[in-house]
Amino acid sequence: MITKDIEPAVQVLNKNDLVAIPTETVYGLAGNALSEIAVSKIFELKKRPLYNPLIVHIKSLEYLPQITRNIPSKAYKLAEDFWPGPLTLVLEKSPEISDLVTSGKSTLAVRVPNHPLSLALLKQLDYPLAAPSANPFGSISPTSAAHVDHYFHDNLQIILDGGDCQRGIESTIIGFKQDTPVVYRLGSLPLDDIQKSVGEVISLDTNAIINPQAPGMLSRHYAPKTDTFLTEDVRELASSFPGEKIGVLLFQHKITDFPVYSQEILSPSGDLNEAAKNLYAAMHRLDQLNLDRIIAEKLPEFGLGLTLNDKLTRATKKV
Ligand code: AMP
Ligand code: MG
Repeated sequence: MITKDIEPAVQVLNKNDLVAIPTETVYGLAGNALSEIAVSKIFELKKRPLYNPLIVHIKSLEYLPQITRNIPSKAYKLAEDFWPGPLTLVLEKSPEISDLVTSGKSTLAVRVPNHPLSLALLKQLDYPLAAPSANPFGSISPTSAAHVDHYFHDNLQIILDGGDCQRGIESTIIGFKQDTPVVYRLGSLPLDDIQKSVGEVISLDTNAIINPQAPGMLSRHYAPKTDTFLTEDVRELASSFPGEKIGVLLFQHKITDFPVYSQEILSPSGDLNEAAKNLYAAMHRLDQLNLDRIIAEKLPEFGLGLTLNDKLTRATKKV
């Protein structure tokens, strides 16, 4: 059932079953984070490998000390500046949190989502919600209730419909090395904003790519089923596949002098926030056209453009 009513969602969650919830980033597949039964169902339904830990959603910063400990002062500063919002903090976990949630790690990923329906839902519950993105492992994240329904239809009793996600890209994940923030995953909160709040942040070392601390950093992730390529010159690459059914994903401007089967424009005005909001929905649409190939245009390399290019690189094949 797709609904805007939180009451049935509360009942389903209290029975250790799952509901899909809207957030400002992407839709989440949510269950009681303190119940191993509910958490196991999340891994099962998503076909998510058990080594890939979940993000836990809480109703407010006040709840943080109940599930984490030894919180660095910069974590508090970031939480005060950006919660509710698209920032996930990786902190030392308390014993109440099962190893299943954290995939055996001593740290827990946690955030306060910025969506009125999910905040209202969290306030009705006396436990936090574990909620990774509501898509099968490895596929494109959902940014509407219809996307979630497409993935899980009969296998999910309730999808809470909060409209299209306002950010449209996953949260930025920040961990800590002593008191220094470390970027675990690029996301919809730009690093510039984080640096303005707490100063220098460090990037994950290259080892992380082989043995990822955040599987959002896995080299292939968020991928369409159709072969997808990323390039600076879409027209040139498209013209090297004559006769193919090609879909293109462009930042600002349509291609007018070369025939392609379908074109998606992320932001006619060249606004990276708008492009982020539209990216996954455009990928979903193209992926449903039975194309031979999707060709995506590289976005400007600053601000959110860095995040979007990171997501596109993980979704695409090298040319
Ligand atoms: P998803 O909610 O599906 O976007 O995935 C959650 C992301 O959070 C994954 O990329 C996880 O690797 C990351 N994550 C969750 N817990 C931790 C943790 N303890 N340390 C580092 N990354 C984490
Ligand atoms: Mg995900």
